Amino acid sequence: MSDVFHRPRDWKIEPAEKRFVVTWDDGAVTEYGWEEMRRACPCAYCAGEGTFKGTVDATTKFTERQTTMTEVHPVGRYGVTPVWGDGHDTGIYTYKMLRRAAGLE
Ligand SMILES: [Zn+2]
Repeated sequence: MSDVFHRPRDWKIEPAEKRFVVTWDDGAVTEYGWEEMRRACPCAYCAGEGTFKGTVDATTKFTERQTTMTEVHPVGRYGVTPVWGDGHDTGIYTYKMLRRAAGLE
């Protein structure tokens, strides 16, 4: 457990491997498969909010476009938002989430 707030030093989209790779300020390098990441989209539409169940779960079948990461933009100083091939861009993945998903926090 660490309460140090880590930020990426760099990140890149690797289309050939269909993954997103983050290099952190502590030197750790973590990778996220596109489909896995799209499935974990934390936005209200995908993940649900309140009584709304959301549209994505473990059995959701995605199209190729839905799991193609085209761009990634920083959100404030705390996270990133990917743009997917179908235009979906409302999921904010915080650095904390990404670190935790990789077993670093
Ligand atoms: Zn979403």
